[in-house]
Amino acid sequence: MSQRLKLEVKALNAIAGGDLVILVSDRLAPPKLAEDWIGSGAHALIARAAAAERFKGKALAGLTLLAPEDAGYERLILVGTGPESERDKLDFAALGGAIASRLGHGRSADIIAALPEGELSAGEIAEIGLGLRLRSYAFDRYKTKSRDKDQAEPKIVTLRVDDPAAVRKALKAREAIAGGVELARDLVNEPPNVLFPEEFAERAGKLDKLGVEVEILDEKDLKKIGMRALLGVGQGSHRQSRVVVMRWNGGAKGDKPVAFVGKGVTFDTGGISIKPAAGMEDMKGDMAGAACVTGLMQALAARKAKVNAVGVIGLVENMPDGNAQRPGDIVTSLSGQTIEIINTDAEGRLVLADVLWYTQERFKPVFMVNLATLTGAILVALAQENAGLFSNSDELSERLTAAGKATGETVWRMPLSSAYDKMIDSKFADMKNSAGRYGGSITAAQFLQRHVNDTPWAHLDIAGTGMGS
Ligand code: MN
Ligand code: ZN
Repeated sequence: MSQRLKLEVKALNAIAGGDLVILVSDRLAPPKLAEDWIGSGAHALIARAAAAERFKGKALAGLTLLAPEDAGYERLILVGTGPESERDKLDFAALGGAIASRLGHGRSADIIAALPEGELSAGEIAEIGLGLRLRSYAFDRYKTKSRDKDQAEPKIVTLRVDDPAAVRKALKAREAIAGGVELARDLVNEPPNVLFPEEFAERAGKLDKLGVEVEILDEKDLKKIGMRALLGVGQGSHRQSRVVVMRWNGGAKGDKPVAFVGKGVTFDTGGISIKPAAGMEDMKGDMAGAACVTGLMQALAARKAKVNAVGVIGLVENMPDGNAQRPGDIVTSLSGQTIEIINTDAEGRLVLADVLWYTQERFKPVFMVNLATLTGAILVALAQENAGLFSNSDELSERLTAAGKATGETVWRMPLSSAYDKMIDSKFADMKNSAGRYGGSITAAQFLQRHVNDTPWAHLDIAGTGMGS
């Protein structure tokens, strides 16, 4: 990630002279706090420009003006907050994102953090800061030509506020979250020749600097443990498979941990059941679940969260090869159950089967949530609007649904039942890894559930949401 944005928090006692951002409601009146800074000609200018551009101060809408002649800045950017009556619906992180999208390249910017009709709390301003940072993310590590000096230098954006100390404090916890999100995004964006299982494990290993205990299991360890379903997926690749265990012990000693499990297929060709060529490059993101878990562990550690948490990720590359797994193969998973391979492209569930079993047996977690770009079928069902949620626990489902609503990353609960479970029975083994097209995300989830005991568990199928740009 390039640091495109340097976010500062200061009192409103000066402005830098580049972009000046103010928030306006549907009445288009600037906040009182801004009056001394926008310049005497600004009111007339705003009225004329808003009429010409049909800008009505709708929430998250924006309008950019040249500054009036007497003003000490270059451009005035208006960002709408909508009608006052709908203030409680305003998403302040999204507002920060809308501001970020309007800022000029290589220019300093001052944001007057006040509403036209009242104050913003430190928490609300910090949310704006979070949105600014998340929206400014770009993955341009491999661009050598288009990067001009303007973009190479971080842009300084200053939130102008009443109480800088309070806002800085509120921003701190959110910066830990932003750091975790950015780590996850970087991992998803890295090309598959750079980010293969060993390299991913090494990057996860860097979390030890924050106090996360990291354990990297190599193929010898995995054989000894008995993760043969996972190893079968990686056996066609020249890259060695890995499982990484990350532990954050911020809670009381002896308290059972909460557990997060991620699918980390660093590239998925489909194996012998090879995928069509079109769009296959996106399969570098088939490790988004593992990236989420790694980003989450970083965020928890950076916030010094008072929780015991364990993150376990299964890292493999799925390639066709003379040594690759075949359709028809039967493997024995760590649980002792046998699996007939029908389609080598249904590999994620094989990886997760072993890692889920391992996690619940070793850590006896309070609950276990796995994240995986598991099925294309979840896109057929839910598009990119919701992640699919499958769970054996109503309570855990409700909590995840609420968390999704609070963050704008929504989930939709899908069914599990014995009728669906029956669809993965195999003629030659305990189960098969693919039951065909009908209910493809559900039968994948049923497969995972056969590797979960009575631990409260939820599976998030993020194949649609993980790759949204
Ligand atoms: Mn696959
Ligand atoms: Zn996959």
